[in-house]
Amino acid sequence: MDELINEPYRLQPGFSDNPGNLKRQRFAEDAQVRLQAALRERPPNIGWFEDLMRNRDFSTKQRPRVGYLCNMIPQELAWALGADAVRLDCGNAGAALVGEEMLSGEICPLAKASFGVFMNKDSMANSCDVVALPTSCDAKKKLGQILDDIKPAFMLALPPEQDHRRYADVTLQEMVRLVGFLETHLKTKLKSGALLAAVKLGRRRSAIVRKLQAIRMRTPRVMSFRDVMLVLQGSQFRPVAISHWITEAEKVVAWADTAAQQAGTTKGLKPRLVLTGAPLIWPNYKVLNVLEECGAEIVADTLCTGEQSCFDPVVLDETGVKPLLRALTNRSVFAAICPCFTSQTTRLNRIISLVEESAADGVVNHSLRLCQLFDMETYRIEKVLKARKVAFLNIRTDYSLEDTEQLRVRIEAFLETV
Ligand code: SF4
Repeated sequence: MDELINEPYRLQPGFSDNPGNLKRQRFAEDAQVRLQAALRERPPNIGWFEDLMRNRDFSTKQRPRVGYLCNMIPQELAWALGADAVRLDCGNAGAALVGEEMLSGEICPLAKASFGVFMNKDSMANSCDVVALPTSCDAKKKLGQILDDIKPAFMLALPPEQDHRRYADVTLQEMVRLVGFLETHLKTKLKSGALLAAVKLGRRRSAIVRKLQAIRMRTPRVMSFRDVMLVLQGSQFRPVAISHWITEAEKVVAWADTAAQQAGTTKGLKPRLVLTGAPLIWPNYKVLNVLEECGAEIVADTLCTGEQSCFDPVVLDETGVKPLLRALTNRSVFAAICPCFTSQTTRLNRIISLVEESAADGVVNHSLRLCQLFDMETYRIEKVLKARKVAFLNIRTDYSLEDTEQLRVRIEAFLETV
């Protein structure tokens, strides 16, 4: 089966006509822009990234658009087929409320919001030609079929474990199936030259992210982590030509590098933290706002929407379509730090190596309410880190702002201990 077949139970797509929904979504974005505008040190071209994230006109497009969820769908495939690739995982509290009205309140806010944006006819999600998502968590396993009433949707079946020997071939077959789906709907053929060029663009993005992380690990005060997220997420969550994004992001790295040299090597007094856990997506930066306002410096992360999302470059050995697809599968699935796989060793290894590399004072884990996968992993992470005398704080929250002050109290108390 090449795509989800909803017949004979296909539903007519429904849309929400409540103007208040859109207002709430805009309010959430504007509020976050105002908060970040108060940051003291910002890259001079940060406005370019802000405009990118705040653009609400998706009526015209230069290229076809592939919407996708999760980090396991490689953007490079869409780029190689002449399309833009837009990640549709949504962090907007307003969109979560719309999703809640239509689906259920007892689903994680990310899934509700990612569905909610489809309820607005003119949204970026609805400007996509197709949607692709993996069977990562329970909500996403079901979301594909629901979205297939609205757009042609593809579900990439993930292996239960990141065991390369057992699952490499079958996962590669899934990537090949995804390519077939995209070729059919975008009416074009994947060529090795175009795929190689796309992989090289992805590698340039990884190089940028690695440089930025190295600079901030040494001197985090040069740039707020919220601005790092804003920059990074522009390349995934909005339909932008990746070459254009690279040009602007390279300016950010050059600026941060100079600022770090001027700042010198004196270690700051602020607590240095590694952030792990559930995805944080623009404009849901509540946890980041509170952490930074309380005086913490986030020096590294393992978020699938943060630096970790494009940290690992695709390893280039051979350059035919099949070897490139295999390399993309290795990067996107077998190196992914996602709790949907049985073992959490990949994630724990990464947290520990980031703590050591960055000389962090502690680790903060972001748990998204109603996401059992992250909650279950917290048990082991907390015990392993405490055994290594690494301070640990688990924050469980959702997209609403109601618990902001409660979070502030807990984070302040935690920072005193580190
Ligand atoms: S944590 Fe895993 S399932 Fe959740 S959004 Fe990230 S990649 Fe997808």
